[in-house]
Amino acid sequence: MIHTIESGSSRASKCISMGICFVFLLTSSQTLRAQIKLVFPLGGTAFEDWVIGNYNDVDTRPIADSDYRGGNYTYDGHDALDIGLAHFRKMDEGVTVLAAAPGTVVTAMDGAFDRWAPSNPNPPGEIGNLVVIDHGGGIRTTYAHLKKDSVSVQVGDSVIAGQQVGLVGSSGGSTGPHLHFAVYQNGNPVETYKNPDQWWYDPLPYTGDVPGVLDSGIANHWPTQTEVEAGVHHQGIYSVEDGSGQLAVMWNYLYGISAGSEISFQFLRPNGSQYANYQWTDENGLTVGFWNIGVDLPSSPDLGVWNVNFRVNGELISNKSFLVVEPIPGDFDLDGDVDGEDFLSWQRGDSPVALSRQDFDDWQETYGTATPYSAVSTQIPEVSSSTLILIGILTSLVRRQLVTREV
Ligand SMILES: [Zn+2]
Repeated sequence: MIHTIESGSSRASKCISMGICFVFLLTSSQTLRAQIKLVFPLGGTAFEDWVIGNYNDVDTRPIADSDYRGGNYTYDGHDALDIGLAHFRKMDEGVTVLAAAPGTVVTAMDGAFDRWAPSNPNPPGEIGNLVVIDHGGGIRTTYAHLKKDSVSVQVGDSVIAGQQVGLVGSSGGSTGPHLHFAVYQNGNPVETYKNPDQWWYDPLPYTGDVPGVLDSGIANHWPTQTEVEAGVHHQGIYSVEDGSGQLAVMWNYLYGISAGSEISFQFLRPNGSQYANYQWTDENGLTVGFWNIGVDLPSSPDLGVWNVNFRVNGELISNKSFLVVEPIPGDFDLDGDVDGEDFLSWQRGDSPVALSRQDFDDWQETYGTATPYSAVSTQIPEVSSSTLILIGILTSLVRRQLVTREV
C-alpha cells in the first residue's frame, strides 16, 4: 500500500522534508540500540490476514529507495512499516491494532473517513485516525490510517503490550486498508528489521522471501477496480445452463513475487487432466498486488470440480476450485432445507433428488463456496490448441492487461 501521510504531513510536505528524513535514517542505522522489544502491532495471522508491503526506505539518496534487504518493498522517504490487508471486506471484519510495547498514549485522533482507495482519491492534508504511544527512553510508536470510530484509547492512557488501540482502516493519506506502523527514537525513524532480534520478540521473515496470497478465488468475469478494492467474491458453482464458453478467472491478492520467478496457472478438468496452462517468467516481480488469470470454459464443460493451481517456482501458492453442474429441474430438500450436508450428498452422487438452480443460489448465499472433491492430476496432456487464455494484471496503482492465445 502506498500512503502519503507521515505523522500528520501531507504528500507535498513529505516530499519537501525528504532531506531531513535521510539524515535521520543515517543516524538510525548506525547508532541505535533498542530500549524495548516489540510485539507485532496487529491481530490475526501474518501472511494470511496481512502482510508487510512496505518497509522503511533505507536508501539515503533522494528519488531512490531501498528496503533493508535491498529490495523494492518501500518507496522514497517511507519511515515505517506498511502492513496491508487484502481489501475492505477484510477491514470490515475488524483487524485489531495493538500497542507494540507498554507506554503512554500521547496522540489519539479519530473521526476521519476511513475508506480511501485509488478509485476514491484522498484530499490533500488529511491526517486520518492516529495513535502515538510514548514508551520512554525516547522511543515512540505510531499507528496510522486507523478505522473510523475504532480508536479505543485516550491521551494519557497507560497501555500494555498487545493492548488494542484501534482497528486497521484506510483513513488519511491511504490507498487501501493498512496500518502504517512507525518506530521513532529521539525523533528519528528506525528500521527495526535491520536488527530484528534486537527489536522484535518474534520477527517476521522478509515478505519477498515468502510468496503467497492474502485471498484468492474464482470469478465468472474480470473483476473491476471497485470489486478489487471491496473484495472479489468467490464463485464456487457454474451451471452449464448459463451458456457456453463461460469465463473462469482466478483472482489473487498476492505478495512476495521476486523478479525472475517462474509463474504458472494451471486449469484442471474434473478428471485431473489439464485444460489450460499459462506460465511465464516474471521479469519484474510483484511486491503486493492483484493478478487475474482466466480461461474461457468449453461450450460443454466437463461436469464436476475443476481446479486451478497457482504456482511460484514450482511451489503451490493457491488452489481454488469451482463446480460445474448440469441444469437439473426439480427441488432438492432431503431434510427440508438445502444445507451443506445435502449439497455434499448430492455432490457425491448419492442424492436421489436433483438440485435446482435456486438451490445452488441459496446454498451459495449461505455457504459461499463449494467444498470440492480434491482433483488428482496423474497425467497432464498438452494444452488444447483452441484454448483462449487471458491474463490481467492489476495493482493498486498500475493496471495492465495482456491477451494471448495458445497455438
Ligand atoms: Zn506508511
